[in-house]
Amino acid sequence: MKHGYLIDMDGVLYRGSQLIPGADTFISQLRHRNIPFRFLTNNSQRTRRDVVAKLERMGVSAEEEHVFTCAMATARFLESQKPRGTAFVIGEGGLLTALHQHGYAVVDHDPDYVVVGEGRTFNLELVEAATRMIVGGAKLIATNLDPNCPTDRGVRPGCGALVALLEVATGVKAFSVGKPSPVMMRAARKELGLTTDQTTMIGDTMETDILGGVQLGFRTVLLLTGGTKREDLIHYAYQPDLVVSSLAEFSDRLSDSDWQSPWGEPARPEKRTPARHADVSESVLA
Ligand SMILES: [Mg+2]
Repeated sequence: MKHGYLIDMDGVLYRGSQLIPGADTFISQLRHRNIPFRFLTNNSQRTRRDVVAKLERMGVSAEEEHVFTCAMATARFLESQKPRGTAFVIGEGGLLTALHQHGYAVVDHDPDYVVVGEGRTFNLELVEAATRMIVGGAKLIATNLDPNCPTDRGVRPGCGALVALLEVATGVKAFSVGKPSPVMMRAARKELGLTTDQTTMIGDTMETDILGGVQLGFRTVLLLTGGTKREDLIHYAYQPDLVVSSLAEFSDRLSDSDWQSPWGEPARPEKRTPARHADVSESVLA
């Protein structure tokens, strides 16, 4: 059966700048076998090219077309909502580039949208300007609402934390495009060129990867190489289809079935033959 994967990056392929063992082999097997996949990241900081360069430094060979970031999803979404609009941006290269590529002008005054991504350029001056714009009617867009992100030294505040500051200051709720938003999940699935049944989301975070996958009706695989432990699962009302320790373990499972879909054939609705009158009355009498 045709099948493919949406693959989270942080905590799945690497932690900080460290490759997680087995991630490189998994990706090269997918490429070797022509199994479609996209890297799906809620980090808006990097452009596609930056992501490919980072992966290559770690020994994972990929092309730009394999990368789908929340910055790209956000720019596409804004283009579809309001073509050739304007945005005040708190964020970095990945987000600025994506907006430009989708016909957006980045401005300092009277924007259609205030768009927030991650980056190291955040300061109170920007927050104050953004607050004034949102109160003045600009719409607040979050590239994602991740509360924090893992780093080599522990965690750093994520885009969600920065957005919360603006939400509290203005009393306006942000619209978020990144995982688990269906806006990004569905766009990524379409990039794969696959149907819902044929799509599997692989990630390490219940609130984004797995929730997004469950909501869209994808199959989901939770990896324990990131922030989630097996014992955390009892706290969630939704569960992944499969829990594996790492991409290396998932590769082992797949190689047992020659890298066919791990879920077998999709359940087809049974063909129903229209009931004849006699059958109906018989079953009623039975
Ligand atoms: Mg992750």
